[in-house]
Amino acid sequence: MTAPTNHALPCVFFDRDGIVNEAPSNEEYYVLTPDRLLIIPDFLECLKIVAACGYVSVIVTNQKCVHLEKLSMEALEAIHATLRNAIDSAGAELLAIYSAVHGDGHPDSKPAPGMFLSAARDHNIALEQSWMIGDSPRDMDAGHAAGCPRNILVSSTKQSPLANDHLTSMKELPDFLRANLPKHGTTTV
Ligand SMILES: [Mg+2]
Repeated sequence: MTAPTNHALPCVFFDRDGIVNEAPSNEEYYVLTPDRLLIIPDFLECLKIVAACGYVSVIVTNQKCVHLEKLSMEALEAIHATLRNAIDSAGAELLAIYSAVHGDGHPDSKPAPGMFLSAARDHNIALEQSWMIGDSPRDMDAGHAAGCPRNILVSSTKQSPLANDHLTSMKELPDFLRANLPKHGTTTV
């Protein structure tokens, strides 16, 4: 008997601001310190559901604030270390965080799919079995361009013709994933 060793992993990709953490106010606009990263409890629950369904989770976030010199790479890494600690403390799992720290129009910055393609290459992710969840039309653009078959917009105000599903609040996402995310492998919810 040979165990399957080369199977690509299905993934759920999550945008960060507005999905992982409360979107910054119009005044703040960017999360610039760890104490301003207000993690949404429903996101932590979603990570557990995703793992139980046999998927890995990856965050893909545009952080143009680094390009604009409002935030250093070290400070961004400190914010993400705080996020990882919170995820660990909740008993949840996150495979990776990809940050696009460039100006508009870079191939790694959403709406382009560069971060998804890097994640697929780095971690053997099956994009054709992966989902994207975000709160902005550019998240839908990026997931669609990466070849993700299901792109879920979570927003009470925005629309996207590329969204396969539209929820108005993160409060709806755990039940939506339980009901709709196909199970892979032999793990159970
Ligand atoms: Mg967002």
